[in-house]
Amino acid sequence: MAPVRVSVNGYGTIGKRVADAVARQPDLSLVGVSKTRPSFEASIAIERGYPLFVAGEAGAEPFRAAGIPVSGTLRDMIARSDVVIDCAPESVGRQNAALYQQAGVRAVFQGGEAATVAEVSFNAAGNYSAAKGKRTVRVVSCNTTGLARAAAVLRERYGVEEWEATLVRRAADPPETQRGPVDGILPAMRIPSHHGPDVQTIFPDLRISTMAVVVPTTLMHVHVNHVRLVRPPPSAEAVLEAFRQAPRFRVFRPWEQAGGTPQVMEFARDRGGRRPDMMENVLWEDGLGLTGKDLRFFQGIHQESIVVPENVDAVRAMFELAPDGPSSMAMTDRNLARAA
Ligand code: NAD
Repeated sequence: MAPVRVSVNGYGTIGKRVADAVARQPDLSLVGVSKTRPSFEASIAIERGYPLFVAGEAGAEPFRAAGIPVSGTLRDMIARSDVVIDCAPESVGRQNAALYQQAGVRAVFQGGEAATVAEVSFNAAGNYSAAKGKRTVRVVSCNTTGLARAAAVLRERYGVEEWEATLVRRAADPPETQRGPVDGILPAMRIPSHHGPDVQTIFPDLRISTMAVVVPTTLMHVHVNHVRLVRPPPSAEAVLEAFRQAPRFRVFRPWEQAGGTPQVMEFARDRGGRRPDMMENVLWEDGLGLTGKDLRFFQGIHQESIVVPENVDAVRAMFELAPDGPSSMAMTDRNLARAA
């Protein structure tokens, strides 16, 4: 079977990582990526051999002036694709949806769009089968992906009666120098926050409620979780082992001395062989406690990369390239870990 032709519209924080991930999957072929204006990212796309297409109003002239070759317009890229992964900024994806529909291509949207942008919201561990054969799928946001992955593990093993989470959110991604705060802690004055209902797009019956605060950091979000389980686990170690066995979790041991997000991201930079990202949910052995049915744990979420493997799995589900979530995740993760 010929590889599914995938293009990435919007080559920013998420788009450039998704493009790298797609390029490493033998059952997918990367048609190209789009940019609205020249930048170092556009020239790196060319260095990597990704055909570059022009999106937006400014046209190809700024690229010509910068000496960056382009392969056509966004419409040309879409016409050569079986599916477009839309990684444009929040709310722009919804505007782009009409283009994809007119061209008769399938589309994957990101979590910045409202759930109504697509037929189904998606998490590979949570509801892979729901995306099978679909024409439009939305990969939920970074925080929702992290919560959904953890929920998939806990629901299956122990059942979840009730979940309360406080999300300590990073203020900005590292290149976003225009965003803040640079000092202070900003409570999100919407209680509960939107994250709980977003998790329910994956698990409609999950009783989960969330609040959030924004803190001045660019290195990951941290979730403070209190979950009342239905069946009491035999021990905290049993719960840790369940997380260790699940795909896309990294549980740090105390001796590793990775006690916070700076050390975790240093680990990601040091481990090599792949982009210096942390696509796994991060747990800490000594950051998990159990009292009867009451489980409390921290988890770290690398906002820039956690949704990347899920985008690959979403395409596999839509085109039914893998029978189930676990096989798709194993394939995706193997190819990502191998990538230089
Ligand atoms: P970004 O701003 O880093 O990247 C978006 C890119 O799209 C930029 O390169 C921008 O120039 C380009 N663009 C702008 N208008 C466009 C258009 N009309 N057509 C095509 N491209 C256009 O944004 P991001 O952080 O990568 O976010 C993309 C999506 O992913 C959003 O829905 C966001 O909510 C979601 N998301 C972001 C994060 C995160 O932490 N950054 C995490 C998970 C999900």
